[in-house]
Amino acid sequence: MTVAASQVSGSVQGRDKAHAVVIGSGFGGLAAAVRLAARGFRVTIVEKLDAPGGRAYVHQRDGFSFDAGPTIITAPFLLEELWQLGGRRFADDIDLRLMDPFYRIRFDDGRVFDYSGDAEKVKAQIAQYSPADVVGYDRFMAMSEKVFKVGFEDLAHVPFTNLTDMLRIVPDMALLQSYRTVYGLVSSYIKDPFIRQVLSFHPLLIGGNPFTVTSIYVLISFLERKWGVHSAMGGTGAIVNGLVKLIEGQGTEIRYNAEVERILTQNGKATGVRLASGEEIAADVVISDVDPATTYGRMLAEYPRKRWTDRKIEHSQFSNGLFVWYFGTKRQYPDVKHHTILLGPRYQGLIQDIFKHKKLAEDFSLYLYRPTATDPSLAPAGCDTFYALAPVPHLGGETDWATQAEPYRARVAKYLSDTILPGLEDQIATSLVTTPLDFKHRLNSHLGAGFSLEPLLMQSAWFRPHNQSEEVKHLYLVGAGTHPGAGVPGVISSARVLDRVVPDASTFV
Ligand SMILES: Cc1cc2nc3c(=O)[nH]c(=O)nc-3n(C[C@H](O)[C@H](O)[C@H](O)COP(=O)(O)OP(=O)(O)OC[C@H]3O[C@@H](n4cnc5c(N)ncnc54)[C@H](O)[C@@H]3O)c2cc1C
Repeated sequence: MTVAASQVSGSVQGRDKAHAVVIGSGFGGLAAAVRLAARGFRVTIVEKLDAPGGRAYVHQRDGFSFDAGPTIITAPFLLEELWQLGGRRFADDIDLRLMDPFYRIRFDDGRVFDYSGDAEKVKAQIAQYSPADVVGYDRFMAMSEKVFKVGFEDLAHVPFTNLTDMLRIVPDMALLQSYRTVYGLVSSYIKDPFIRQVLSFHPLLIGGNPFTVTSIYVLISFLERKWGVHSAMGGTGAIVNGLVKLIEGQGTEIRYNAEVERILTQNGKATGVRLASGEEIAADVVISDVDPATTYGRMLAEYPRKRWTDRKIEHSQFSNGLFVWYFGTKRQYPDVKHHTILLGPRYQGLIQDIFKHKKLAEDFSLYLYRPTATDPSLAPAGCDTFYALAPVPHLGGETDWATQAEPYRARVAKYLSDTILPGLEDQIATSLVTTPLDFKHRLNSHLGAGFSLEPLLMQSAWFRPHNQSEEVKHLYLVGAGTHPGAGVPGVISSARVLDRVVPDASTFV
């Protein structure tokens, strides 16, 4: 869509500061806003919803506070860096607590494994399952560290704008066996099927299938050990609110209930955005934190795209969907840890159903979040706040969530009641269910995917939608669907890339 400059209100001509419009207030959008304001841009964030955070939105219900999405906070230095850029100290605003264990993993037969960053504690538990795998664990963690050094330290904040950037890393990737899958690499060190699950499930936290995702994602194991797994007092929502205050302190305006309908362009350059209300906002640079499939397929629907055509989007692979049941209980369950993973009876078969067959299976594996284990203020006195999350197929399958959501929720409730939350069905104080339909309609996520583009080797780095748009000048992309990918550290790193690709503010005025 080409719009003459004179039609755009709030013209960017004749002012002393360059203007950046950020579409979306997910972690990627908020991080982008901090960085651009620190570099001298006047920044406006336009957000479709009534509150910030995107996937990290907070639902308030009957005195219970539910973090909608991210709960596992890793690599806190990335957040500290944002606070520094905003002129404040992270520790003054956010009370972050180290989790011990990181997660309790419960197998379907009732055995548990407390996974943490303490190598000796982990090895003592591995020894109980499979003594022969203790050495394999050390060797696996040494490999994870090597991959981390390249995949995270060297590449996470690099703009993969040119194919040569990609070709340069091919030798390193070959050396690190990136052509293997996470499960394949883990299995080359570990023999026991349960320990293989413990060390290979991590990609599921960011929408990757452990059986197909590039083994670069084994870096998560070392990343967790190096910096720990944390949680904020007040929940992840406290970090989002902290970021919003930081951003407002920098003079940035955040406009809620402001859905962008079109990215405006002129002569191949982004010139602003048009909201669903018809209002147009002029900008020198536009940053989209929205799923790239939506950014290109809808907000630039009529723009002649060369690479991210509708056909290319149609043929891309998207991550799994998520079923999330938020519930408050009238009593507390003090034995349940902050993070619990309940592995169901099947591993590979279930994952195949989700990713390949796109079929909603009878069985499931769950991640159960109980933030009140650390911060009781997130529920009324004597109560607990929970969410139970199950990876499910995205909307490319045939699941009719309008009819399936309640029976699925009831199955999840029964499983939890039969395992670690006895009597759960009689203890529910409040309840809210979200399915891939909510991801599609609330968050504008293509196919209702939980984490945008699937992190396959051929959809990573240069192959992912570039942080500096390859379609439109002065348009930049951050968030889960861009490089380096999903997860809070990933999307904050995507905003870090902006420092390398967005020109100085002074060049626009
Ligand atoms: C249930 C769940 C649990 C997770 N757990 C973890 C975890 O424990 N740890 C971790 O690191 N990661 C976790 N993740 C992944 C992580 O939350 C995401 O990868 C990350 O938060 C995504 O951030 P983003 O910047 O891509 O933006 P998003 O959070 O996707 O935000 C995009 C924003 O854009 C807005 N928007 C969309 N369209 C428009 C429009 N047209 N106009 C204006 N605004 C628009 C949306 O409303 C939204 O606010 C989890 C994700 C989910 C869903």
